[in-house]
Amino acid sequence: MAEVKYSEAEVKELARLYKDLLRGTYQELTTEDKKSIRKAFDLSIEAHKDQRRKSGEPYVYHPIAVAKIVADEIGLGATSIIAALLHDVVEDTSYTLEDIEQIFGETIARIVNGLTKIKSLSNESSSLQAENYRKMLLTLHDDVRVILIKIADRYHNMLTLDAMIPEKQARIAAETLYIYAPLAHRLGLYTIKTELEDLGLKYTEPEVYYSIARQIKESKQKREKYINSFSEIIKSSLENEGYIFEIHGRTKSIHSIRNKMKRQGVSFEEVYDKFAIRIIYKPQSKDEKHDAWKIYSIVTDHFSPNPVRLRDWMTQPKSTGYEALHTTVMGPGGKWVEVQIRSQRMHEIAEKGYAAHYKYKHGTSKESGLDQWLNKLKDALENSEEDAIDFVESIKLNLYSKEIYTFTPDGEIKSLPKGATPIDFAYAVHTEVGEHCRGAKVNGKIVPLNKELTSGDQVEIITSENQKPKQAWLDYAVTSRARSKIKSSLKEEQKRLAEEGKEILQRKLKSIKVKFNDKTINNLVNYFKLKTSLDLFFRIGNGAVSNSDLKKFAAVQNNTLYSLFKTKRPKKKISSVQDNDEVSQKFDMVVFGKDEETLPYTPAKCCNPIPGDKVFGFTTINEGIKLHRQDCPNAINLQANYRYRILKAVWIDSTQREFKVNINVSGIDNVGIVNDVTLVISNAMNVNIQRINIDSEAGYFEGHIRVSVKNIDQLNKLIENLKSIEGVRKVEREKS
Ligand code: MN
Repeated sequence: MAEVKYSEAEVKELARLYKDLLRGTYQELTTEDKKSIRKAFDLSIEAHKDQRRKSGEPYVYHPIAVAKIVADEIGLGATSIIAALLHDVVEDTSYTLEDIEQIFGETIARIVNGLTKIKSLSNESSSLQAENYRKMLLTLHDDVRVILIKIADRYHNMLTLDAMIPEKQARIAAETLYIYAPLAHRLGLYTIKTELEDLGLKYTEPEVYYSIARQIKESKQKREKYINSFSEIIKSSLENEGYIFEIHGRTKSIHSIRNKMKRQGVSFEEVYDKFAIRIIYKPQSKDEKHDAWKIYSIVTDHFSPNPVRLRDWMTQPKSTGYEALHTTVMGPGGKWVEVQIRSQRMHEIAEKGYAAHYKYKHGTSKESGLDQWLNKLKDALENSEEDAIDFVESIKLNLYSKEIYTFTPDGEIKSLPKGATPIDFAYAVHTEVGEHCRGAKVNGKIVPLNKELTSGDQVEIITSENQKPKQAWLDYAVTSRARSKIKSSLKEEQKRLAEEGKEILQRKLKSIKVKFNDKTINNLVNYFKLKTSLDLFFRIGNGAVSNSDLKKFAAVQNNTLYSLFKTKRPKKKISSVQDNDEVSQKFDMVVFGKDEETLPYTPAKCCNPIPGDKVFGFTTINEGIKLHRQDCPNAINLQANYRYRILKAVWIDSTQREFKVNINVSGIDNVGIVNDVTLVISNAMNVNIQRINIDSEAGYFEGHIRVSVKNIDQLNKLIENLKSIEGVRKVEREKS
């Protein structure tokens, strides 16, 4: 060993590390290889002898750890192990690239040079990340091993990031999420990619990281119990077929849970509730694909599969080399469970990437197999489209399936035509369920009844005794079964209402002293521009024609001259606040998010957005929200890699700003109440309905309405108008 500046304990540790490094290589090494590695190991110890890490440890522990990751986790051969041991030598010590080339040859010198270049780039300011990324990819044309070793280097730095000053921690972590994790993913290094993401999150958003980590820990038992209950059911069947296998729950990474929560706006429980199970088997035959399908058939004997979520990555592996058979089945308790079926070989590929692929294909220590892998990696990276196969696969499924498969809460399949809605589903379950359908939950979330279902949706119909089929349902339903049932009940309902209406009309005409006879009815039909008396009776019955309408009719009846000028059906007059007829647009304010909040921000220097530009907000780690133009050169990268940090933003005219207000309305239900309420709101100038929800039960209704208004005057006017609706008892602005 080299002359020392190391303590006795450290020398011992170095000897242990050396043994450990050689023992754990994935590729088999020749004696020649081992000799060279020893030389590099000693040189690294010697070169770094004056350096210590912040923790006080000898610096050389770092290149050794990187070499270990390269050898064991990534599975590269001697050349890469040597380059990893030397990767910081030229940068940090008195050794030159020429020295390296002289001792280890041209290839290793070139790789070390590549690694040194990347380092000097990433030391520049963090705003150059995009450019940095591009340049790093360009170096791939030299040798993809540079990237693989760089990933290992970054991985180890992330593992030991505590030893860095906090400002550096956040920057390095952000860069890791931005550059290294996607690269590792692209190269099929799933395990490392996941680690990088989790570590990245830990240092960029520690509160989020620790909160999810805690929740995972807390729900561990429940999860294991479920997975056990699943495996119990298929275990004996698999054993009966003579399979040697393991069943694991796949643990979702903290980062991916967080992304899902952000992207889909759901809670931890909702994300974590989705289980994935891996069955890793030892092939019985030479044809491991055949075994996978056999296991698939055993699994689906016990659990009904979702036919559109079958993925055969064995016949057509992913561009990263990933192979497996995926299916999603309805597990115990009506829960979707993804089942990944993999042979031991496939599993190793999934964990390690191509290194395993070629080890199996070409036997051990065939450097040629490794070269093929490296070439393939280059192809994968140069072909910048993300998972092309994934993409094509999903398009194909959506394009060609005219039928969708949905599920009841108990896991029963209901196949429906494409475009079907919860109404169709409800009628498919039972006419009674359809007729009393009041709402629906899809995958646990309340959805509108016109929501288009997709394959795999689990649909729960909420019914109510008081509910009846509505005219609007005909716009939602696509199945002929649902449509004909809705039509016939509507017809019956119309008849019933018309009969009621006729009686009401008789009574009402009497009270305004108008005779109920054919002539009056004819006049009424004409006055309201209807076609038949049934039309009229029906509209009286359902409340579309109100008392005041009738009174106006009576007034007109009594003054036929006046009627020449006033033949149009009078509408309820709704007062409204007038704005100026013409308001010019002047953009002077940026608002963020769905709720159009005003938040502090600074314009990004890279694209300098000006008022009126199409823009988005990007939450930076240290500098708050930056406003970028949508056509900013950095936009695509930011949006691709940091979706969850993007904020919707828009320039507005502050004088035209709208405020969202929740209003609660309640009162006595009558058939036309929803119409009246919506009519009042939509007739109010410049008030927009964002959401309206009216529930009625036993003659009493309660509505929650969300509107946007420009000012308090508009709001007050609107509330006043709502109060004047027949039947409305209470109108209140919700305190938020
Ligand atoms: Mn390093």
